[in-house]
Amino acid sequence: MPERVNKIAIIGAGAVGATIAYAAMIRGVAKQIAIYDINRAKVDAEVLDLNHGLQFVPMATLEGSDDIGVCAGADVVVITAGAKQKPGQTRLELAGANVELCRKLVPQLLKVAPEALLLVVTNPVDVLTYVVQKLSGLPTRRVFGSGTVLDSSRFRFLLARHLNVAVQNVHAFIAGEHGDSEIPLWSSATVGALPLMQWSVPGRARLTEEDRTHIFDNVRNAAYHIIQGKGATNYAIGLATAQILEAVLHDEQRVLPVSSRMEGYLGINDVCLSVPSIVNRGGVEAVLEVPLSDSEREGLKRSADTIRQSIRTLGF
Ligand code: NAD
Repeated sequence: MPERVNKIAIIGAGAVGATIAYAAMIRGVAKQIAIYDINRAKVDAEVLDLNHGLQFVPMATLEGSDDIGVCAGADVVVITAGAKQKPGQTRLELAGANVELCRKLVPQLLKVAPEALLLVVTNPVDVLTYVVQKLSGLPTRRVFGSGTVLDSSRFRFLLARHLNVAVQNVHAFIAGEHGDSEIPLWSSATVGALPLMQWSVPGRARLTEEDRTHIFDNVRNAAYHIIQGKGATNYAIGLATAQILEAVLHDEQRVLPVSSRMEGYLGINDVCLSVPSIVNRGGVEAVLEVPLSDSEREGLKRSADTIRQSIRTLGF
């Protein structure tokens, strides 16, 4: 049997879409990468530039077009197209325009790539994941969002730097909305096998309540700072999405805080948000019921209410 050829289709050749393609290409995530954008000049230029780097990465083919047909037969479609935050704007404020984009896009995608999993990155990602799942009618496991994978990597980076340990040894999740109502899961965070809340290592910084507040504020406000400085965030979301794609296409069973539809998770229903979940070739295989403190549980419910309210306002 010939080896199965994995194909990723990326919708949107903007800062995020092009960087996802770049990260996926460097990591050899898929043999075929396609990018679709309504801006022909932009997609052609990005794909040409990426193609000029092919010699230096694992073998793959890259094509781009303003014709959705370029996505035909994709195993995963990554949606990055749409409006982005202007300095000071919240993610939820983008919802209306990006919902309209999805209304047009989703039926076209179902036609050209009927077998694909749909991975939403466009903001507000939790709201749009819900909307795309509803519009597509696909099983909930096949439609998910990048959620708080990025926020969790920001969280781990800041904790690792504060404690002076390798970021790979920090296991800590941000859950809920990818946005202002997100919450840090302090009670389940670990460094190596040591619960973070018991961290006390001679010669290393302690983690005071003030430190924790400061670290979480930095996580929550990271995008605002970056957008203020350079107009977009792209590198970390590119790498985060490449890892999600790897988890899917390489059937890794990886635990990632992707956004998916909750049905009875701690009493939370009918809303998309992020909790640690097992991701494999089929999409979101399972959501993990991690132990939560009372305030984390309340925070997650509040976050769910915030997202649900936005979904209802949009008529879904
Ligand atoms: P960008 O403006 O650089 O790119 C958007 C691209 O979408 C443009 O090239 C535009 O031509 C294209 N586009 C618009 N409508 C389209 C359509 N109907 N079909 C195909 N292409 C279309 O924006 P960006 O910086 O790449 O950000 C894209 C989105 O990703 C934003 O919503 C942003 O908020 C979001 N984002 C999400 C995360 C996350 O963690 N989920 C992180 C960063 C950015």
